[in-house]
Amino acid sequence: MSNEVIIVGAGLAGLTCALRLQQAGRTCVILEAAEAVGGRLRTDVVEGFRLDRGFQVLLTAYPEARRWLDYAALDLRAFNPGARVQTETGLHRVADPFRQPEHLWATLRAPVGSLFDKLRIATLRSRARRGSLEEVLQRPETTTRAALQAHGFGADMIERFLRPWLGGIFLERELSTSSRMMEFVFRMLAEGDAAVPARGMQAIPDQLAAGLAAGTLRLNTPVAAVAPEGVRLVSGEHLCAAHVVIATDGAGASGLLPEVTAPAWRSTVTVYFQAPHSPVDEATLLLNGQAGGRVNHVAVMSDVAADYAPFGKALMAVSILGAAVESDEVLAAQVQAELTAWWGKQVREWRMLKTVRVRHALPVRLPLVSEPARPVRPGVWVCGDHRDTASIQGAMQSGRVTADAIILPA
Ligand SMILES: Cc1cc2nc3c(=O)[nH]c(=O)nc-3n(C[C@H](O)[C@H](O)[C@H](O)COP(=O)(O)OP(=O)(O)OC[C@H]3O[C@@H](n4cnc5c(N)ncnc54)[C@H](O)[C@@H]3O)c2cc1C
Repeated sequence: MSNEVIIVGAGLAGLTCALRLQQAGRTCVILEAAEAVGGRLRTDVVEGFRLDRGFQVLLTAYPEARRWLDYAALDLRAFNPGARVQTETGLHRVADPFRQPEHLWATLRAPVGSLFDKLRIATLRSRARRGSLEEVLQRPETTTRAALQAHGFGADMIERFLRPWLGGIFLERELSTSSRMMEFVFRMLAEGDAAVPARGMQAIPDQLAAGLAAGTLRLNTPVAAVAPEGVRLVSGEHLCAAHVVIATDGAGASGLLPEVTAPAWRSTVTVYFQAPHSPVDEATLLLNGQAGGRVNHVAVMSDVAADYAPFGKALMAVSILGAAVESDEVLAAQVQAELTAWWGKQVREWRMLKTVRVRHALPVRLPLVSEPARPVRPGVWVCGDHRDTASIQGAMQSGRVTADAIILPA
């Protein structure tokens, strides 16, 4: 039996597209090159530790994630709102006073920006919450750095807190990401948590895949080309359908369809360490608020979700922004030397488990617009995070609106 729709790629965009089509009674098949679903959202188990393929989090306020995911079944574990910032004088707390009023005093006293800067966080937060999400993504656009300066933030607040915090989300420290993305992130963090599923980020695509009709997924099936009325597989097989949806990443889409422009990419490296115990015992993001150093932020994953590490062990995810040229061993030694200044000689007991390098982590989206779902050729569609916000939300929304456009043609 032939399918109405062929979807290429079983990342979040492809999976959400398929779920929406099947919800409307349409038939589809997903062709995925890899041996599992998830795309950029995968988790490997190494020596009993759960290592996401690059540190990442789900913002629980993402509307599309709320629509398609069963959060209770994912057993989400949230980070504390706000962060702790390492400066020359130690680790200081910058909490969200609306969410954690008990930390208001510590936050106001932290030597990270002025009192006015801390109030400006509140005004930026309320600006980001005004209007609909669509309206936020249509506001006048500049870079995040320019928008923060225009909002009045002082250099100290930007350098010590906003640069590592937002930079860790955008995977770049220049803060050249769209101000629309910055407001989108502020809004999501004001309205929900940053969280991980108890057993790793891959639980997200796995849950989506479990909702598909039997026989929808064909793994280990790379597509070589978009052919008339279908696709040609690397194996040489031809498959036909009325619609083809390319749900690969932006580079893959441009390889299959020359009319799609290949995006530039943000890269990141996550160095995973195991240790006998956590240096902080707190489910919080730890930011490098000092000038210089390789580390942008650290998350003790086992403090957030105990199942990320075997019983009695701690798992640290240390994030470096950009690509690194050093070997894994040299990089791990540099990171350990740097973090010894944060937490003393206990860091020497840490052992590197794995270094995860993701060159194609986030597509650069400037200007940032939600691309309308329309065919790039008759019957050929493109979706993915390179068509929307570069995020879990953007990938899922792009997949869903593409399915909507196929279901209900304009
Ligand atoms: C390290 C890292 C950190 C991140 N942090 C966050 C975060 O904290 N919060 C957040 O919201 N987002 C984050 N993201 C972004 C988020 O993971 C992505 O936006 C999202 O997963 C993209 O999904 P997608 O379906 O668009 O693309 P992908 O996940 O790239 O899926 C594309 C799929 O297509 C398949 N494919 C490619 N070519 C072919 C072919 N020719 N034939 C068949 N199949 C093919 C691929 O194997 C893949 O499975 C992060 C990403 C990374 C990598």
